[in-house]
Amino acid sequence: MSPSAAPLREPRSGYPPGARVLFTGEQIRSTVERMAGEIRAAYGEQELTVVAVLHGGLVFAADLIRRLDMPLRLGVVMASSYRGEAREPAALELPQHPQLDVADRHVLLLDDILDTGRTLSALAERLGALGPRSLRTVTLLDKPSRRVVPIQADFRGFEIPDLFVVGYGLDFNERYRNLPDIVALPPPATGPRPG
Ligand code: 5GP
Ligand code: MG
Repeated sequence: MSPSAAPLREPRSGYPPGARVLFTGEQIRSTVERMAGEIRAAYGEQELTVVAVLHGGLVFAADLIRRLDMPLRLGVVMASSYRGEAREPAALELPQHPQLDVADRHVLLLDDILDTGRTLSALAERLGALGPRSLRTVTLLDKPSRRVVPIQADFRGFEIPDLFVVGYGLDFNERYRNLPDIVALPPPATGPRPG
């Protein structure tokens, strides 16, 4: 499904000024359903250990796991990004261990968005070193044009161009995670300032 990029007809309370809706909550719902089908087909009845990257992956994880019906365990890892300005590259801080054992498990590493690929590849390397039976990755959004580390997600929702997006778990300075839609911020020159 390609971005509709419909401009908001009028400023909506709680939305960033000048935001454009890329994907509505309804479009996200049907994409998450499609992804859940792909994941069910890949794992069948085998137990799955989902490791969600916080905070961005929180809303996606909550919706996705409720559409999976195999035995399932949920763990989280925190990857801080210190992105003051939306366009700045994130300084990556990774945990030493996930809080859930992954050795000899079928592990599905889940994130909100695949951008440069640094976060997911570093986390996948960490998890891979802990001896999972299998390790796959899932991301709701993918910006392939921004990739620095060559990594592809095994399951992905939407491909988007080089835009900074918020909503459905994704933030700008910790705001907008609660929006039901995924919206693009206007380019930095005219975009909102932090605070
Ligand atoms: P990567 O390590 O692939 O460059 O970045 C992945 C992380 O950067 C994501 O998990 C997310 O936290 C953040 N990120 C990348 N692009 C965007 C974006 O367009 N919007 C928001 N809110 N976060 C982003
Ligand atoms: Mg993130």
